[in-house]
Amino acid sequence: MVLAQLGGSISRALQQMSNATIIDEKALNDCLNEITRALLQADVQFKLVRDMQNNIKKIVNLDDLAAGHNKRRIIQQAIFNELCKMLDPGKPSFTPKKGKTSVVMFVGLQGSGKTTTCTKYAYYHQKKGWKPALVCADTFRAGAFDQLKQNATKAKIPFYGSYMESDPVKIAVEGVERFKQENCDLIIVDTSGRHKQEVALFEEMRQVSEATKPDLVLFVMDSSIGQAAFDQAQAFKQSVAVGAVIVTKMDGHAKGGGALSAVAATKSPVIFIGTGEHMDEFEVFDVKPFVSRLLGMGDWSGFMDKIHEVVPMDQQPELLQKLSEGNFTLRIMYEQFQNILKMGPIGQVFSMLPGFSQELMPKGQLDSTNPKLMNDSRIMRIARGSGRQVRDVMEMLEEYKRLAKIWSKMKGLKIPKKGEMSALSRNMNA
Ligand code: GDP
Repeated sequence: MVLAQLGGSISRALQQMSNATIIDEKALNDCLNEITRALLQADVQFKLVRDMQNNIKKIVNLDDLAAGHNKRRIIQQAIFNELCKMLDPGKPSFTPKKGKTSVVMFVGLQGSGKTTTCTKYAYYHQKKGWKPALVCADTFRAGAFDQLKQNATKAKIPFYGSYMESDPVKIAVEGVERFKQENCDLIIVDTSGRHKQEVALFEEMRQVSEATKPDLVLFVMDSSIGQAAFDQAQAFKQSVAVGAVIVTKMDGHAKGGGALSAVAATKSPVIFIGTGEHMDEFEVFDVKPFVSRLLGMGDWSGFMDKIHEVVPMDQQPELLQKLSEGNFTLRIMYEQFQNILKMGPIGQVFSMLPGFSQELMPKGQLDSTNPKLMNDSRIMRIARGSGRQVRDVMEMLEEYKRLAKIWSKMKGLKIPKKGEMSALSRNMNA
């Protein structure tokens, strides 16, 4: 998962603090300094980090901590709330509805991943039963239409564009009109990301927007630009009515904190993140589950969604039955996650489970049915095979035990169906 390093650092700082015999001001400060360092390393703005640190100090009452309350939980909750506050600027200006025609215009600089993201966005909705269509209004860059055409063909999504026409406004209007007549419910307009001058780029964006009257303008931004994200997001916002943001390339590096926090600072909600070059490496961005995963607190609704999405229908009842019996073994994890592996890296899935910090996950697969049988030599073999330290494997097994304990508490509990997750999610995160 993106920002795994940040999540791992925060989890470790909390762990160290809760291991300390006395929680005094110094222990709390050490912990907060460690977290501050991790956030700055992830490129989160200095001012935001400083405010966050001050707010946590105000909220956390040292007397409470001394009185034997669950210190880790109290501080983790404070950090959770502050991170959520930092990343949550509110709702997008418009949310398209299935079956009702919406025009969504994509803007962003060349190289940000805009064209790829248009297709991912279309494909995401197509899988959910929408009728999307793509319009290429980028006449500036040679090859833009070919790229969109290629992506659209692969995903079997209707597209519109021209090799001859040089007026982007004309193409955009024609494309939107045609797909309206064809009753498409999500008409996506890809615009140019480069021009001779920035002024010309913004002017073209405004003209396309005026002519097509989009219901929503989505700004696409590359996460690796870090702190520069704030200025870029603001510049686009000032030129066109940006309603929401998609941050791309959240895989690959630990710096995404800059983009997420900076975009939030411009009061633009991030609604999706791109996590790879492939069509389905695209995730809904929801602040609370995201922060929850970041801090190793889990994302139950995301986890259950994945199960419903990827475990074959006929296997779902058996899996859920076993889980609800509190019968949770590494074998179950292994067998069932074979399915989930089809959808993405195991760390991403594990990060949805409370108590799992992705950074602590060994990369190899576990071959035991019962972690109690893990003796020293097996642990060493797994460490060698997965290219990890023995300590990492031990830590993972500890995390497993914690998770198994949680499942055992769920014994007899009816596992909710899709759409019934919030209550469970609240319970487990409480
Ligand atoms: P555009 O110029 O903004 O339209 O950008 P493109 O869609 O052509 O993308 C530029 C490059 O970024 C391509 O090589 C894409 O495969 C890549 N890309 C786009 N989104 C992502 C992402 O989420 N992760 C990664 N790793 N690469 C991405």
